[in-house]
Amino acid sequence: MLLDDPAPQSYYAQGIKALHDHWAGHAENHRRAAIENLLRQVASMVNLPMPQVVWKDSGSSFFRIAQWEIHASLMSVTTNPETDFKEWLHKVTSPYHELRHADQHRVLLEAYLTKALALPVPFTRGTAVGGHLPSAFQREEYPYPQHIIMMIRTQKQEFQQAWIPQARSWSDSIYGAHSRFRRDTMETLMTKGKEHHYGTYRSLPEEADAFAVQTEVKRRIKSLIRLADEDLQLADLFG
Ligand SMILES: [Zn+2]
Repeated sequence: MLLDDPAPQSYYAQGIKALHDHWAGHAENHRRAAIENLLRQVASMVNLPMPQVVWKDSGSSFFRIAQWEIHASLMSVTTNPETDFKEWLHKVTSPYHELRHADQHRVLLEAYLTKALALPVPFTRGTAVGGHLPSAFQREEYPYPQHIIMMIRTQKQEFQQAWIPQARSWSDSIYGAHSRFRRDTMETLMTKGKEHHYGTYRSLPEEADAFAVQTEVKRRIKSLIRLADEDLQLADLFG
């Protein structure tokens, strides 16, 4: 099972719904702990080594491959669902999006370790953005922390053949034949700002997948909150 399975998505959605219902009553550090705890639970449901979560005073969140860390935006806990529901829903599901990236890299590493996929042929030996990651493969190493590689090595038999097509597209995009395109897209995004290449960025295979997973979690949270509203209206009606 991976993080695109209904079970972890539904578990996370229910946890966020519970947090939502007492949002104003909880301090920021409680909300942070609650989100981290949910991430830990869903990671354990799918046997994913849990990344370190580092909270940052920044609008964007990301997964750091070589550190196996999620940099989570504090806006996930400071946005108010009462006044800005759409933004809140996006921010509060971003940590799941980032955890999905860790999930993708677990799939990749299992694919390489079981030889379901050949190691990518890196496009460059350079030191440009991301260049140090592909170059790890030239030394026949993996660009992940040693303890993560060891953990995944013990469970690599969980790899399923059905994951190969997606794994291949992520491998090509992140490390292989298309990684130059990815690097250029990221560089443009970082130097020129979000309005440039954001659509291109979102359609990279690993991003398209993580955004689709996030959208599904959003849908589940929305429907839980709406159902609760309907229950309240019914209680009004019959109460
Ligand atoms: Zn992403």
